[in-house]
Order: sequence, then C-alpha cells, then structure tokens
Amino acid sequence: MSAVNLLDFDLDGLTAYCEQLGEKRFRATQLFRWIHQKGASDFDQMSDLAKSLRAKLQGSAVIEGLKPISEHVSSDGTIKWLFDVGDGNAVESVYIPEDDRATLCISSQAGCAVGCRFCSTGHQGFSRNLSTGEIIAQLWFAEHALRKRLGTSDRVISNVVMMGMGEPLQNYAQLVPALRTMLDDHGYGLSRRRVTVSTSGVVPMIERLQQDCPVALAVSLHAPNDVLRDALVPINKKYPIQELMQACLSYLSAAPRDFITFEYCMLDGVNDSDEHARELIALVKGRIPCKFNLIPFNPFPQSGLHRSAMPRVQAFARMLQDAGIVTTVRKTRGDDIDAACGQLAGEVQDRTKVHTRLRREPVIMPVSVVRRPTKGDRTV
Ligand code: SAH
Ligand code: SF4
Repeated sequence: MSAVNLLDFDLDGLTAYCEQLGEKRFRATQLFRWIHQKGASDFDQMSDLAKSLRAKLQGSAVIEGLKPISEHVSSDGTIKWLFDVGDGNAVESVYIPEDDRATLCISSQAGCAVGCRFCSTGHQGFSRNLSTGEIIAQLWFAEHALRKRLGTSDRVISNVVMMGMGEPLQNYAQLVPALRTMLDDHGYGLSRRRVTVSTSGVVPMIERLQQDCPVALAVSLHAPNDVLRDALVPINKKYPIQELMQACLSYLSAAPRDFITFEYCMLDGVNDSDEHARELIALVKGRIPCKFNLIPFNPFPQSGLHRSAMPRVQAFARMLQDAGIVTTVRKTRGDDIDAACGQLAGEVQDRTKVHTRLRREPVIMPVSVVRRPTKGDRTV
C-alpha cells in the first residue's frame, strides 16, 4: 500500500487518520502544527510526539511537497515558482509582497477546462485536478522557504488568492480541505477575508462554498451581457449572467466580506466601450454590493486579442466610479520576470525539458485604486 501524504488532510482528516492509528485528537493537532506551522517534513523532527507514534507514521505516511522546477525573483520582490506535478505538467505560484500584506497566488488545476478566450491556461486545455496536498503544498513551500530566506519565524504570507492556473470550483472536493487548512488556527491561521476564491462562475459550487467554507469571492465577469460573455467565458452558456448574479447575491448573506469582487479583463474593442460600462452599471448598481477590478489583458500569440489602451481603461474605470462603484486597476509590476495574470504556467512541459517562454509579459498584481489623476500622478 502506498504511503498516505499528510498534506492531503485538513485537521479533521488528519484526526480521522490518527484515530485509525489509535491516536487521540490532540496528537493530530500536534502533528498538524508541526507540518503547517513549522514546515516539518521529517517525523524525527517532531520531538514532542511519542516515539511509538513517530514509528507508526514512518511506516505509513509521508509529508510530500511539490518539486520546484524554477524560481524567478523580480527586482520588486515578486517571486514566481514553477512546480512539477508529473506527466509533463507544471503549475505556478506567485508571491507578491506589498507594504501592508503579502499575497500568494495559487493554482488549483493543471490546465483548465473552461476555455476562456483570453486565457492561455484555457487555451492549453485541461490536464488534471490538483490534489488537496498539491494545492496546500504551494503555500507550505512558499511560506517556509520565505521564512528561512527572511530569517524569521513569523508568518510571511497574509493573503491567498486562488487565481493561478485552473478553475478552483471545478476542483471543489480537493479545494475545500486546502482552504480549511489555510484558515485553521493550527494551520496557517489566515482570515477568511484574506483568502479569495476566484471563479469564472460555477454557480452550484458558489452556493456550496457559502455553506462549506465561506471565504472572499472574486467572480471573473468580463462582459456585461450573455451574448458577449458566452463568447468570452464559455461556462456562461451553462450558467448565464442573471443566475450568476443571483448566486453572488445569496453568497453575500454568509460571506466574510460584504461585497463581491468582479474581475474584468480589458480587451481592446471587445468589452471596453462606454456602452459596455453603461451596461455593467445597469447590471450591478443597486442590485449587488461589489467592487470592480479591471485587468489589462496580457496578450499571448494564439489569442488574437489585444490589450485596451491605458486611457481607455482609465475612462472605463472612471465611468464605473462616477456611478458609485469602487473600481481598481491591476498594476503592472515586476516586468523582469514572466508571471502575468492568466498566463501562469501557460506552457505544458514536454517530458524532457521545460519550455521557456519566448515572450515577456509584465507581472500584473492587485490593487491600485483608480483616482482622478492629480498633478504628478503616474498612470498605472
Ligand atoms: N479560473 C479562475 C481563477 C484563475 S484565472 C477564474 O477564471 O476566475 C485568474 C484571473 O485571471 C481571472 O480573473 C481571469 O479572468 C484572469 N485572466 C485570465 N487570462 C488573462 C489574461 N490573458 N490577461 C489578463 N487576465 C487574465
Ligand atoms: Fe480557466 Fe480561469 Fe483561465 Fe477561464 S480564466 S480558462 S476559468 S483559468
């Protein structure tokens, strides 16, 4: 029988596993803390666990993270890791430090089945779901590698966004224990408001997330009407905008934040006109508490699409703001490494070597509030 990977368990799962070994709940808590709070991967390190338990674990379990294939560090501190997940697949995680927080962007699948027009992961197709262990291993690795590097035993990562490769709500069963581990005080102790699931709009799973593990929700909207959204985000044909809006609204009744973040990728001549802005305002205003995050499109060759010019993005943002909707534009940062939003691990590796990207795209990161420019302001 192959060894159980303890990264696959949230605390309840680990407790059940320990019970099978004849151990009490508090042993599972100790073990969980060793793994997630101290970053231990070797049972011999776990000095306060009975030798007999350590011996049992040695025989039946492992703590196995992901193998990093590469690391790129930007001059602004952004770090991108590429992890091998076997069979020629790789996923990426991106660490984004800011003054008041540090965010890790995590992948949930190798590839993605949704197939959005503007997303290179979508163009790549679906390879497979990541396991709970592979999802949490990205945080486990980054948190403990960074603590070592920064010479601290304090927590480094304060926020997690499920905005890497894949549609998290199409990998629901594996996602939820990973989220619970992020939130658990014996795990990473992150606040529910600081863990964000981003979805293209898998309506039934939005409803389940609200019941099982409410965290902050970001919805990739990208279009104000069904005709356009059908073309850009194919899952809209199954769950059209009105159903999505209804799911968002009911999510808010139990959500840790009192607004939904709508992501909107700005595509030149496709979804970025004044008329689209007016339609968006009519869609949400007075109906759903929300913020908009406009993402300048990161082009890739097969997309046939172009990024909206920055003045257009600013004008679009201003229309939403003038209608009273808080709107931010994702800021470009760290353009010396290649980790752009929606392009993470766009390449599937062949079995012998990692493809290197031919193009360089800037790192896109959250949140610069769009204000009316004042003198001396630089546009984002
Ligand atoms: N599948 C989830 C989460 C991963 S994608 C989702 O779609 O929400 C994370 C964000 O990046 C989404 O808002 C997505 O629409 C956006 N994105 C994808 N491709 C992009 C691109 N080429 N340029 C800019 N943003 C992109
Ligand atoms: Fe999948 Fe999100 Fe990319 Fe759409 S934008 S293809 S849902 S990863």
